[in-house]
Amino acid sequence: MKTSIIAVGTELLFGQTVNTNAAYLSDKLNHMGFDVMYHFVVGDNPARLREKLAEAFIDTDLVLLTGGLGPTQDDLTKETVAEYMGAEMYTDEQVIVDLRAFFDKRGRSMPENNLKQALLPVGCTPFYNASGTAPGFALSKDGRTAICFPGPPREMTWLFENGVRQYLEQFMEKKMYYRVIRTIGIGESDLEMLLMPLIDGQTDPTIATYAKEGECTLRVASQRDSLEEAKHAVDQMTGRIDELAGEYIYSLDDEDLNEVVVRILREKGLRITAAESCTGGLFASAITDVAGASEVLSSSYVTYSEDAKADELGVDRGIIARYGIVSAETAEAMAAGAKARSGADIAVSVTGYAGPDADEGHEAGEAYIGYAFGDVTGHAEIKTSRNERKWNRRYITLRMLRAVYLLIR
Ligand code: ATP
Ligand code: MG
Repeated sequence: MKTSIIAVGTELLFGQTVNTNAAYLSDKLNHMGFDVMYHFVVGDNPARLREKLAEAFIDTDLVLLTGGLGPTQDDLTKETVAEYMGAEMYTDEQVIVDLRAFFDKRGRSMPENNLKQALLPVGCTPFYNASGTAPGFALSKDGRTAICFPGPPREMTWLFENGVRQYLEQFMEKKMYYRVIRTIGIGESDLEMLLMPLIDGQTDPTIATYAKEGECTLRVASQRDSLEEAKHAVDQMTGRIDELAGEYIYSLDDEDLNEVVVRILREKGLRITAAESCTGGLFASAITDVAGASEVLSSSYVTYSEDAKADELGVDRGIIARYGIVSAETAEAMAAGAKARSGADIAVSVTGYAGPDADEGHEAGEAYIGYAFGDVTGHAEIKTSRNERKWNRRYITLRMLRAVYLLIR
């Protein structure tokens, strides 16, 4: 089905706000098999909004709008859409109940102008908003449908996942199923070459690769008459992909690498620690980003200076003097020290040059990851050949997660 997206808000035209809503909706709609043909951005102006709405409905039968549903004077999307579709407004009692509960819960009295949010077009399908105050709604006429969302991205995505997605299924001629497979340790073009026997000449399921910050993601999608058929086709293809690229795959279900690592550590009852230099705690942060981290992490070290490495981890100063502070030997000694001092089952360490400037004889992005697990110690060497500090630190953190993943999987 052909679709347009209209984002409403003058702040979008001023460049104060990036139009992330359109990107989000396009991505979701595309995955569901809708053809998104146009993006429009309009300021808070009912006449121009009406014009763009009319323009969108020339070529497309489904128009999604975001923004301008709030209680303030400049919020005019709802009225403009209702008027365009020839619908009167009614007061939706459910919204009033929700609004009162929203303000009661926060111990605030409701400003009068909020009642405006309970007005909805007659004949619409309301999408009640548990993540904010403005409800969304869908309104159809003569085979055309407009769906309105509030502007705040958190509310928009909540409504999409809690109501709108399901509502949109009625427009899908075929049923779509897809799976997102996450890989690390292989570049996009190498991965594509590896999977060429599957990709070549394949029309359904489709396999698409996306590179993303040191990782590569695969999307396997199928559109069939029934969901079972589509799912079966995707599962079968996933099995074949796993046969060819299994060593690089860390999730068949779109999990992040830190989530996978924490999950496996929990399953195996293992505790981890880290000794970080150039990542300055990013690894510990990635672990603690995951709910349940307290079961697997009790402490972690940020040892930036030579003294800290020696005093806090017990790294032999002789090793540092002999091999250098950024070396495989120092990285391994840091991991061994962290493991011994913390009593964790597994320790991972890193020492490296984040950049942007290189150190004598070294390039930015050169780093060594050390690990210690049971009787196994070892290291991995990284050369990113990039002088972007931020990127290097994030990538090196990802590689630390990968080193751990390879040890415990
Ligand atoms: P509210 O009830 O908050 O007034 P609303 O539906 O009227 O909601 P807006 O006033 O248009 O929405 O926008 C609210 C917030 O959402 C603003 O911070 C705005 O910058 C942000 N926002 C609006 N549209 C978009 C968009 N297309 N992409 C990203 N952020 C957006
Ligand atoms: Mg507003």
